[in-house]
Parts: sequence; C-alpha cells; structure tokens
Amino acid sequence: MYVARILYPVEVLGPGKRIGIWFCGCPRRCKGCSNPELWEFKKVYETTPEMIYDFVKMISDNNIVDGFTITGGDPMYQSKDLQKLLRFLVEISDDILVYTGYVIEQLTEKQLDNIAVLIDGEYIEKGNDNSFLRGSNNQRIHILSKKWKERYVNYCSISYNQIQNFMTSNGVISVGIHKPNFSIELDKNILLRGLKEDNE
Ligand code: SF4
Repeated sequence: MYVARILYPVEVLGPGKRIGIWFCGCPRRCKGCSNPELWEFKKVYETTPEMIYDFVKMISDNNIVDGFTITGGDPMYQSKDLQKLLRFLVEISDDILVYTGYVIEQLTEKQLDNIAVLIDGEYIEKGNDNSFLRGSNNQRIHILSKKWKERYVNYCSISYNQIQNFMTSNGVISVGIHKPNFSIELDKNILLRGLKEDNE
C-alpha cells in the first residue's frame, strides 16, 4: 500500500485530536485538487498496514487520540489495504472518517466496513463554497456509525472550516478545507515569513 503522510494532532478534519493518514494515489485528477502531489503511487511511499498500525499505536500510546481521518489521494483506490488497516485501527479508535472521490452508491458494504463517517464525491472546483468539511458542495457527509452519530451531528452543527498548518522536515503542510488557489496564497505567505528560500 502507499501512504504519504501521517500527522497528529489533526483538529480540523473531524472532532477532537485525530491522527490524519494521507494515502497517495488518485487517478481522478480533479481540477483544483488541493493535494496534486499525492496523485502518483510513488514507490517511496510504499508501506504495509502493519507498519502504519505500529506507527499510529506509538502515537496513541502517548497521546489522546479521538479518532482517525483518512484522506489522500483517494484511499478507496487501495480498498483491500484500507480495509486491512481499518481492522487494526479500530483497536485504537473506531471513530474513523474517510474521504473518497467515489460516491457511496459505487461502494460495496465490505468497502464501507469499519468506516464511521464517509465523505464522498469528487472535488468540483466551482462548487467550492466553504461547505463544512467538504471541498465542494456536491460532496456528502454520511454518518454510518450509530455509535458516533450524536458526536458528528453536534460537531457539524457547531463547527466551521479551519486551516491547520504543520511545519515538517519537508516544509509546511496545510490541512483543512481550502479555498480555490490556496496553494498560491500559502506559498506567498511562506515566502513573506521567511519560512522557505525563494529559489526561482
Ligand atoms: S478525488 Fe480528491 S485527491 Fe483525487 S484528484 Fe480529486 S480532489 Fe484530488
């Protein structure tokens, strides 16, 4: 399987302090996608569900983990590995929110197993209207878990989109629901604050 990044604590893509897992690989290539660097299935990101589990277990042994948010890329392009990973993750938390470019009607029950919340549909740039938790307004939030229904209904009623920037050894990773052209704005701000040298 291919996973490009794991971040903690992610606080803007689901309730609480979450572990965010970014799969890589997505052949959809939606115009304006906020993570085009994750479109390719890059060899350097090859891993296994066991390795991911060991890593997130280490995080959860030392921190509060309220849930997982799995995005990408599109995790459903690696459906079998995703399912295997989810079976491990539920041992830590079964509040698992998954983003996919598929719509729920295209997915099987097996593919939805252990997913508490699914946010579905491809990104359509002209529908980017700051819908909560969604890149564009065609996407839908499906609360599949009865156990977490109240948590998500409350969360969706009182929260609003926010951005969280992580400084990593590979530069700044901006997490959240972004407005169109956010990456151009982010690069400008990074340069202004002297966080990266302008090599152009
Ligand atoms: S489905 Fe998501 S990750 Fe894939 S291209 Fe579209 S916006 Fe990007």
